[in-house]
Amino acid sequence: MNPVNFDFHCHSVVSDGLLQPAELARRAAQNGVDTWALTDHDDLGGLAAAADAAREAGMAFVTGVEISIEWREVPIHIVGLGFDAAHPALGAGLHDLRLGRIERARRMSDALAAISIPGVFEGAMGYAGNPSLISRAHFARYLVEIGIAKDVQTVFQYYLTPGKPGYVDHRWATLQDAVAWIKAAGGVAVVAHPARYRISNGDLRRFLAEFKDMGGDGIEVVCGSHTAEHVLHFARLARHFDFHASRGSDFHGPAESYVDLGKLPALPEDLKPIWRLLS
Ligand code: AMP
Ligand code: MN
Ligand code: MN
Ligand code: MN
Repeated sequence: MNPVNFDFHCHSVVSDGLLQPAELARRAAQNGVDTWALTDHDDLGGLAAAADAAREAGMAFVTGVEISIEWREVPIHIVGLGFDAAHPALGAGLHDLRLGRIERARRMSDALAAISIPGVFEGAMGYAGNPSLISRAHFARYLVEIGIAKDVQTVFQYYLTPGKPGYVDHRWATLQDAVAWIKAAGGVAVVAHPARYRISNGDLRRFLAEFKDMGGDGIEVVCGSHTAEHVLHFARLARHFDFHASRGSDFHGPAESYVDLGKLPALPEDLKPIWRLLS
């Protein structure tokens, strides 16, 4: 594997994306991606179709998943890449993780009903291609539909983030679980979009040190939500912790994403690209 344009982070309708896995594959290839991973939240259900479509489009395909964890009560996302999707430990861990989402969604809906926005569970479910992956993104789309705010970003800002009325705490997986499941299945573990966490610089370093000790392999240095300053900052942290560097758009759909598949800057040249760890 020696990609020129790899994109190792995006979502299909199997989680909270807007396109089918095969549509994403075709779009990635059209955008010049040569090596591609689908990384749906907490679910592997799109990987078979994605692999077939990637092959048809002439791209190398890497299995992927974005696992929801919490570390010291901060929600964080860990991307797994290049694993055996049939491995039972990974499948069982993700299955248990998904079970909590419906219950959380009911609590979110109750919290919104308490501020006179009723029926949001049912409304959000109408946007979920995969009910067990019901997500805040589906809530946001429904709340836009009923005119609560003009777009999903605004809904998140006023209703779905910590301290806002539709946000509820939730027990996700642990860091240890996520790394262990990925490693058991032969994959590599990467910290997703490290600039997005509500965490101090000191805690982020402590988190990265724990991740490294557990066998974590890399961090996203170039991703859809990173500014040029973020890229420099996380490149320094990758060097400091001797992490491999990943690159991913976090594309969810044409109208909802910071950048399109593959339309990202290159990784800083001295960093070790994460694909070197994949066969
Ligand atoms: P959940 O896993 O249900 O907590 O939902 C998290 C998902 O919501 C993320 O993967 C994003 O797709 C989306 N999301 C989170 N924060 C925002 C935001 N501020 N604006 C738009 N989408 C967001
Ligand atoms: Mn998402
Ligand atoms: Mn994420
Ligand atoms: Mn993502």
